[in-house]
Amino acid sequence: PADFPCSRIAPSPTGPLHLGNACTFLVNWALARNLGWRLVLRIEDLDQDRARAAGDTGTEESLRWLGIVHDGEVVRQSERLDSFARAMERLAAAGLIYESPHSRAEVREATAALGAPHADDAPARFPASLRPPPGPAWNFTRRDVNHRLRIDPGTITVHDRVAGEHAFDPGAREGDCIVWTKSGFPSYQLAVTVDDIAQGVTDVVRGDDLLPSAALQSIIHRALGAEPPRWWHLPLICEADGARMAKRHGALALSELRAQGVDAGRVRGLAAQWIGAIAAPRPLAPDAFRALVTEPILRTWHVGTRSAPPCLDERSLQWLHDS
Ligand code: GLU
Repeated sequence: PADFPCSRIAPSPTGPLHLGNACTFLVNWALARNLGWRLVLRIEDLDQDRARAAGDTGTEESLRWLGIVHDGEVVRQSERLDSFARAMERLAAAGLIYESPHSRAEVREATAALGAPHADDAPARFPASLRPPPGPAWNFTRRDVNHRLRIDPGTITVHDRVAGEHAFDPGAREGDCIVWTKSGFPSYQLAVTVDDIAQGVTDVVRGDDLLPSAALQSIIHRALGAEPPRWWHLPLICEADGARMAKRHGALALSELRAQGVDAGRVRGLAAQWIGAIAAPRPLAPDAFRALVTEPILRTWHVGTRSAPPCLDERSLQWLHDS
């Protein structure tokens, strides 16, 4: 697979993309084009209730507007349930998963498992004492029961190309993780890993709120007989008040900015300023943005943002709307 490097953009259509997503996806696209990777687009639409509630989020139009061109057909996770079930059978054959029909709190956790764990939603630790005794529960015969993957304590070191080395112990920290929910869907952690393997993804570029998930996903990769990809976790952009940029901020949706006539070149210019590639924003054509994105720039950005994350302040917002 290393001979055919591939990355992916993997949005969840649970709300419109925002400027933080734009920055992450633009950097992902630039790395792919600079380093000769394929870049696939995967819509992570397993959480159908939230996707329906969000309506049409215009994700693909927003990516096109930003100048992000991906390779090949768009993959939708909602159409891949059989592949996820086959991965479950494989894990079951290896004796790694079990039915876990437990308390309300765990059902809550199972629901949360459908979405990626972003900042501030630390999962509760699941005690190994709640594993069932050896027997029929260690199987995947029912799709309407929560299933967990056995994760034993042990340190996993993530060697991140941007964020450096980080050690995690998912078995000690969170315990056995939900891989299948009683609503009949794989959890985010399982689905993302199965698809990264199926699509031959060698390089994962995404926000660093998912850095701890890289440890868990490395375990799932190996359990499915695959080598984990290289990781490139990027700093997140904050709101002016320091809060994480979230999909609820409707006015900052890319679809909204586009409708207001904002120039996509200005969004690229702002992203280039956020990553520290230019001191003051200026409108940038896609290729001009791309040329600014290098590994050293991204590492310096990471080190610099540990104390002060880049924020969307009033001035940047004003600048976006000047034309
Ligand atoms: N779909 C996930 C999200 O919206 C991202 C998954 C990933 O990049 O691993 O947060």
